[in-house]
Amino acid sequence: MALKLYNTLTRKKEEFNPSKDGVIRLYTCGPTVYDHAHIGNLRSYIFADVLRRVLKHNGYAVRWIMNITDIDDKTIKRTVDEFGSQATPENLKEYTDRYIKSFLDDLKKLNIPTDEPDITLIRVSDKIEEIKTFIKELKKLGYAYKTEDGVYFNIEKYQEKFGDYGCLVGESFLNGKKTGTRVKVDEYDKESVSDFALWKGRDQSDGKIFWSDPELGDGRPGWHVECSVINREGFNGKTTDIHTGGVDLIFPHHTNEIAQSQALLGKDKFVRYWLHNDHLLVGGKKMAKSEKNFFTLKDLESDLFRSKGKYKDKENMISAGLAFRHLTLQTNYGVKMNFTKTALLSAKRNLYYLAEKYKKYENPPWKFSGLILDNFINDLNENFNTAGALAHLWEAIPYPDDRVDTMLEIFGIKDDLLKLKAELKPLEEKNISIKIWKLVNEREKYRTNKQFVQSDRLRKEINELGYELKDTPDGPKIWPKNLN
Ligand code: AMP
Ligand code: ZN
Repeated sequence: MALKLYNTLTRKKEEFNPSKDGVIRLYTCGPTVYDHAHIGNLRSYIFADVLRRVLKHNGYAVRWIMNITDIDDKTIKRTVDEFGSQATPENLKEYTDRYIKSFLDDLKKLNIPTDEPDITLIRVSDKIEEIKTFIKELKKLGYAYKTEDGVYFNIEKYQEKFGDYGCLVGESFLNGKKTGTRVKVDEYDKESVSDFALWKGRDQSDGKIFWSDPELGDGRPGWHVECSVINREGFNGKTTDIHTGGVDLIFPHHTNEIAQSQALLGKDKFVRYWLHNDHLLVGGKKMAKSEKNFFTLKDLESDLFRSKGKYKDKENMISAGLAFRHLTLQTNYGVKMNFTKTALLSAKRNLYYLAEKYKKYENPPWKFSGLILDNFINDLNENFNTAGALAHLWEAIPYPDDRVDTMLEIFGIKDDLLKLKAELKPLEEKNISIKIWKLVNEREKYRTNKQFVQSDRLRKEINELGYELKDTPDGPKIWPKNLN
């Protein structure tokens, strides 16, 4: 079945058509590193990673780029708070390095790789020259203008030429809205359709954190321009196939990204498919730093999130990263997801049961018949129905083979489950399974000879030893009665 994606731009589920060269260029808006990432942020990266794995399984070569916002209103403010009013770009680097490291640690714990050749993380401070060049090109074409406090993007001019500003939000986005005002701050709401800052003129409150340029003046990049530039640089000017981010980025961030990039590209398309994950909530409200209702992955490792139930020792062998990854897979990416302690602890318990099932048979007595992997992939190809795909994994995992390996690999939980499987004490059933299997074979001989009294006697014996037996066209199948 072909891969289908819900494209925010067209507001439709569309069949995915690969690019001509077969390489999929995937871009994800990365973290703003003024603090530790919260688990809401991490939901969006787990989604992008599963998407990457599904694309790879569908046979595509995937190039994945993520930016790291280390220059913005928040990172600069925190640096000035810590280093004082004379803070420099070096201080900003020192400050943000700390949270980049924390972010990379989180990704590692979530099994999101960063060290593969096709995965690149690019920090904004490494692209200052490219950003300046980009802004100058916009200025030259008349899409940007300089004022006393920076360089701004001209929405009216863009609208005259392209007529689609705000297309990601909706076709009639600009209707009835006033344009021509300016906004310097990075984040603003949908009611303020203002020309936004590409280059923010040096401000006293930024200390000495600024970069000089004879044409643009002393200043620093605005928030939105970085992603346009990093897409262009990272993918050598080629169209980005898939761009992801949380739904809060649709406006203004992605809307402005489209305008800036499209202004320079003209008819060539900037991005073909826009995918947005919905939010992680707490008590029905978006998890956000500003709401102070957030948890970090470190919080999830604390005593508060330790299982206290009957199987606590086994459940607490499961890492917070694995539990959270599994929790997010249980809800499809386009749906809001409410985070609770109970939900995380049940995700741990589920994983423990999953590992128990996984280790049931060293040598499975029968192979799971049917199109189990096809069904799993079909669910994922239907706009990443991870919740549905998970059900197929549960069905197949007691009888592991390479199809189960593939499922675990796509979910990014294979190594963890293998480790868990090895750590959990092998069940007794495993040791007696050879004896059981002999009885099953003996019974099968009686049964095929129509010696039903003998075969029924053996079935009873097998049953009393704790196993269910079923005759199927593929031969007899057995499983422990206590298999969940
Ligand atoms: P930021 O670090 O604020 O730039 O956000 C990084 C990513 O996390 C962006 O894709 C956001 O849209 C996403 N994000 C922020 N809050 C949440 C949330 N509560 N649930 C899911 N994604 C979020
Ligand atoms: Zn971005």
